[in-house]
Amino acid sequence: MQTKILKVGSGTINTVGEVLSTNNYFRKILYVSDPIVDGLYGEIVKEQIRNIGKLKVEFVDYNTISYAMSIAERVIATDVDCIIGMGGGKVLDVCKYASYISKRPFLSIPTTVANDGIASPIAVLKRKDDKPKSLGCSTPMMLLVDTDIIANGPIQLVKAGIGDTISNYMALLDWDFACKRGKDEMNGYAYMMSTTSLDALMKTQYNSICKEFIEVLVNSIILSGIAMEFAGSSRPVSGSEHLFSHALDYYSRKKNLHGLQVALGTVAVLKLIGRSQDDVINYLKRFDVNVNPKTLNIDEETFIFCMQNSIKMRNNRYTYMHEIELSREKLKKIYKELEEEL
Ligand SMILES: [Zn+2]
Repeated sequence: MQTKILKVGSGTINTVGEVLSTNNYFRKILYVSDPIVDGLYGEIVKEQIRNIGKLKVEFVDYNTISYAMSIAERVIATDVDCIIGMGGGKVLDVCKYASYISKRPFLSIPTTVANDGIASPIAVLKRKDDKPKSLGCSTPMMLLVDTDIIANGPIQLVKAGIGDTISNYMALLDWDFACKRGKDEMNGYAYMMSTTSLDALMKTQYNSICKEFIEVLVNSIILSGIAMEFAGSSRPVSGSEHLFSHALDYYSRKKNLHGLQVALGTVAVLKLIGRSQDDVINYLKRFDVNVNPKTLNIDEETFIFCMQNSIKMRNNRYTYMHEIELSREKLKKIYKELEEEL
């Protein structure tokens, strides 16, 4: 299933009913959210559903694989026609996977843009041991991004979204490198989409996080999703900087937003491979995106350990990290520079 309906802009949340009825998904609809988001915007959506069909409500408590499977099972058993998810990554990833397993269409209403997951064919859910796992699935068939809602949300989440898109910078370098080494295959369309996503963001005329800028960011994030769809994997938007972030998620107790971790990883790896980091650092500063390891509570030991263990995080993703020397001394020096420059 590919995304067929895509609306980005002010007030798109008011078009749920219209989208459902024009696509004939109006008999039984499962609305999934969390209590906070539901309290803010739930009635707007639920009222539109009630006007056209039967509404069932589910509040997401967990984002485990088994929980997403249990929703899929109920959707199949009770003949739900369509799943509507409204919320952040936790809610949307559960819905995305439940939709994929149950083969029911998914209408997604993201209330944050903290990462490029909103339009990606990947759901990140937790295993039984609480560790995250990336699962391939489909992009939402209907995607409504209301920029008013995003703009009213926490600004730190928007900053994380900037960080995740900026990380395409490193991911593309890693992909090129892996292809040169004969360790991966190129996909021209996907490569171009990821570059376009990065360029749209980096070349924006705006200098602060205003509503117009949020629209640019959302478009960039969606282009990153399309890049993944074309490639059939996250390769176009995820390289060594993501491996580093996965290592932090796996080994570090301190939890940070994914988008901030990958932005830090981008600058760190650019330093390691001796490439200029100015464009990335200047851009992050322009939008006041602070990814200083000290601010993120990533101490020197954790930084060194996660850098050194990053390539263990994924078997089939060859990057610069697989060939560069990662000695303690070198990583110590880079950590110090990051502390001073970011
Ligand atoms: Zn990411």
